[in-house]
Amino acid sequence: ATIPAFLAEVVRRHGQRTAAVFRQTGDRWTYAEFARLIDRMAAGLLSIGVYKGDRVGIWSPNRPEWLLAQFATARIGAILVNINPAYRTSELEYALNKAGVSCLIVAPQFKTSDYMAMLAELAPEMASCPPGRLRAARLPKLRGVVQLGPKPRPGALSFDQVMERGNRAVRTRLDAITASLNPDDAINIQFTSGTTGAPKGATLSHRNIVNNAISTARAMCLQPGEGLCIPVPFYHCFGMVLGNLAACAYGAKMVIPGEAFDARDTLAAIDAESCAALHGVPTMFQAMLDHPDFDSFDMRSLRTGVMAGAPCPEPLMRRVMERMHCRQITIGYGMTETSPISFQSAVDDPVDRRVSTVGRIQPHAECKVVGPDGHTLPVGQQGELLTRGYLVMKGYWNDPERTAEAIQRGWMHTGDLATIDAEGYCRITGRSKDMLIRGGENVYPAEVEEFLTTHPDISQAQVFGLPDPKYGEEVAAWIILRPGASMTEDALRDWCRGKIAHYKVPRHIRFVTEMPMTVTGKPQKFVMRDKMMADLG
Ligand code: ATP
Ligand code: MG
Repeated sequence: ATIPAFLAEVVRRHGQRTAAVFRQTGDRWTYAEFARLIDRMAAGLLSIGVYKGDRVGIWSPNRPEWLLAQFATARIGAILVNINPAYRTSELEYALNKAGVSCLIVAPQFKTSDYMAMLAELAPEMASCPPGRLRAARLPKLRGVVQLGPKPRPGALSFDQVMERGNRAVRTRLDAITASLNPDDAINIQFTSGTTGAPKGATLSHRNIVNNAISTARAMCLQPGEGLCIPVPFYHCFGMVLGNLAACAYGAKMVIPGEAFDARDTLAAIDAESCAALHGVPTMFQAMLDHPDFDSFDMRSLRTGVMAGAPCPEPLMRRVMERMHCRQITIGYGMTETSPISFQSAVDDPVDRRVSTVGRIQPHAECKVVGPDGHTLPVGQQGELLTRGYLVMKGYWNDPERTAEAIQRGWMHTGDLATIDAEGYCRITGRSKDMLIRGGENVYPAEVEEFLTTHPDISQAQVFGLPDPKYGEEVAAWIILRPGASMTEDALRDWCRGKIAHYKVPRHIRFVTEMPMTVTGKPQKFVMRDKMMADLG
């Protein structure tokens, strides 16, 4: 189904149930009210000249308008472009131009970032152009800016002005436009995290994300009326698909604690709204459990949720299950390109399986593990993970070359290394790009990193390959020491010898105080590699 058709069915079944609760603004809508607001916004967008296929950027933390924009753009077949709230001017410029965004919905500010000031820096012409008629040298495709909140800057429309326009006649056109949409139309461009290079704009269809949302909701056994707490950002698939869309799938209540994650606000939201489900990355669960006020909130309503994005340590899993009462928490693995979840554990999987694996492939999707020559490997062997089916994106926006590399005969090459056991449970063991070959021997950085961090003075280690005239590649490591510790390169190499195979011992070592990171908090090895190569000449 298309997103509007999917939502219409949800409203028909659950119109009087609560759809969303925004704790920070006090907004609280039933599904029927939600649908009316979406139509107003969709009509408003039409009236300012946004049509099917146009790219509408949204640069905002978790606000009510974000949720409306998600469904309003889909209602008229416009393509929503999610822009990371942590971006700065240069990243914004890249994303807007790469996706050809013609209309940008923007929050005035977020935390200490003044979004409108950053935008004005990129498009100083805004102040002298009438709304909708922008001509900016650095943002050649951008025409209109919709500013959330009161008092729009010169050249921008306010969100309320757009909603006002939506009250007029154009609403009659909505149903005709919606009827012309196809489930395989592009509906969303999501940028990947940029862990292995410049972020790629994954283009997703209605079919991609609606089905992913339904599968995830089903894996959690989400029930009508249950509260799903969403402290993860909407800009990422985790928030907008596994959170917002999945909640809709079963008429559940979206509970949004605030604009961005805060442990105490999230605990308070779960308690006040008696949430049954909670989403988060492992560090969010950790922060809630460690919060000094944890015991003053009632978590007994919690039952399930999705923990994803990074491996979850077993002790944390046990605390989430026992202290947070989340006995049916599920683990998810995925990537932006697969809408996002491809593997998820089930609520009744044994705990040890939920801790050590990412569960099994989603229903109606396929997976296999292949060796370097592309042949499928026997059960249990490590290789690159490939997935196929409705969840695979349409492609990278405007990038046929990289699309052809990533998707071959329908199979998405995840770039992740994995093993899958006889019962179908998958274990993620690292990224294949990270693997290096030194003198014919395969070195898996994740293994060396894990070993290095067993040294009492080492807090973090990142391992990668550098080109080497003699061995093809050599092992390099960036190390963050614990506070107060000191170490020499030789001392570290001596410590390694005899404990791991000689070819895994890092030859190039650098001690640093921080690692280059993506805005989603993942270390960027390509940046480390470039820096070291520059230094080594
Ligand atoms: P880029 O593709 O731009 O280099 P990225 O791959 O980090 O960045 P995302 O699509 O946000 O961008 O992240 C997907 C990746 O995150 C997966 O390919 C995998 O490496 C990692 N990942 C996701 N979930 C898990 C999990 N449960 N366990 C381990 N790794 C995970
Ligand atoms: Mg990736």
